[in-house]
Amino acid sequence: MKRGTILLLNNIAIRFNKKDFEYDVYSLVKAFYPHAQVTMFYEGEEEPEGAYGMLLLVAYGSQEICLAVEKDGTEIFRQQVAVDYEKDRPETKNVLKRLVYGALCQVTGKTLPWGDLTGIRPTKIPMKLLEEGWKNTQIAQYMRETYGVSNEKTALAITIANREKALLQDLDYENGYSLYVGIPFCPSICLYCSFGSHPLERWTKRVDEYLDALCKELTFIREEMGERKLTTVYIGGGTPTTLEPEQLRRLLSHIQTTFDFTWVKEYTVEAGRPDSITREKLQVMKEFPVTRISVNPQTMNQKTLDVIGRKHTVEDTVNIFHMARELGFDNINMDLIIGLPGEGKEEVAHTLQEVENLHPDSLTIHSLALKRATRLNLFKDKYEEMSFENSQEIMEMTQQCARNMGMGPYYLYRQKNIAGNFENVGYAEVDKAGIYNILIMEEKQTILAAGAGASTKFVFEHGTRIERVENVKDVNNYILRIDEMLERKRVGIEKYLNG
Ligand code: SF4
Repeated sequence: MKRGTILLLNNIAIRFNKKDFEYDVYSLVKAFYPHAQVTMFYEGEEEPEGAYGMLLLVAYGSQEICLAVEKDGTEIFRQQVAVDYEKDRPETKNVLKRLVYGALCQVTGKTLPWGDLTGIRPTKIPMKLLEEGWKNTQIAQYMRETYGVSNEKTALAITIANREKALLQDLDYENGYSLYVGIPFCPSICLYCSFGSHPLERWTKRVDEYLDALCKELTFIREEMGERKLTTVYIGGGTPTTLEPEQLRRLLSHIQTTFDFTWVKEYTVEAGRPDSITREKLQVMKEFPVTRISVNPQTMNQKTLDVIGRKHTVEDTVNIFHMARELGFDNINMDLIIGLPGEGKEEVAHTLQEVENLHPDSLTIHSLALKRATRLNLFKDKYEEMSFENSQEIMEMTQQCARNMGMGPYYLYRQKNIAGNFENVGYAEVDKAGIYNILIMEEKQTILAAGAGASTKFVFEHGTRIERVENVKDVNNYILRIDEMLERKRVGIEKYLNG
């Protein structure tokens, strides 16, 4: 292919002289050019087919990194930096990321709110430094200078890390474990869903069989984990409240009789979709020590709900929320998504006002992530005329709404291809923060996960090493191959318990 003949900035190539750090460079380029197709190749290989508008040339040896950027065949950036690759690989990676970030800021005239941080857990950095005894001001300076994080995001990450540290203080998380229970069915599949959830109507007849396998796995976990302390329980999905009241009772009762609840600090049922929640199901939950539930509107605009394929009304959300309050639920979370098709400032402002009127105990703000395996992505041409808007201003509106309800931020994570390169933030009132969310995001505690598609995470050596054991995603396979899932877990648990 002849370089420089056609200028297509939705087509970018990166050439490396060797294999290392490719993903870090790729993620940064994607953060600046989220809609571009980014292709990577290596020196000596044939250049990729097709025209590209920009080429990044990354070359590093043991003492030096060199980065050049060509646009339309002309070199527009070149810089060399000294490193010690053999002795300090992590620092070499930081230097390379800074170099790429600086080049792209120069080329685009833009900076990113999270600077060159590409990982999904930005609070891990301040958390680690706090544990090492650093002061907030020192951490702020380090984050700004090392990663180019903006003042707002630095403050947000440090505030959250401090709150998390305080919340985890009273928890013996290293000697305990948490339990995740997955119900992979939903009343309908949302346009943006990337969880691989299954439409309930197709599986109604097999839900009991699914519960048989799930209960078997839960019993197995309890037996294998022995006397290790269970600290939090999270039932998620999918939508757990797609279970009929009797099925829900069966599951909650099995959990109750199988596990020792002496040390359980939090028990969440992510009820989620208002179209699946009924008074009877809420009453079933009340028969058990469930401490926290979610009623997730995502938006309070009916038009958007219809577009994204959620088969409930705004009124359903309001009614279910009041019903849950009436039945005594005093820790209710609500999830919202920013950047939904057709939604801008005005629509978000309306949603926030409606949520404020209800006043949940915690609020989770997600920025829409355009993932590959979603209907939204598959049919993106169809939705192209609709705006997908997110901005710092909208993020600040959500922050203000949380503040108006007396909430502060307590956990944060990022996703790949997130709208506007923003973040997901959980806000909560004092004492209403979701402990499980912190444990999973900060990778502080081992989480045993049961159900189709559930991913168990073993945390070794104070979070410095993580090993995962995955269950198959497909419900039919999960049911048929449950013994194989147990065997996978047995191997993982044995390794974990033996250190
Ligand atoms: S409720 Fe959640 S899991 Fe279910 S389809 Fe919608 S996005 Fe997917």
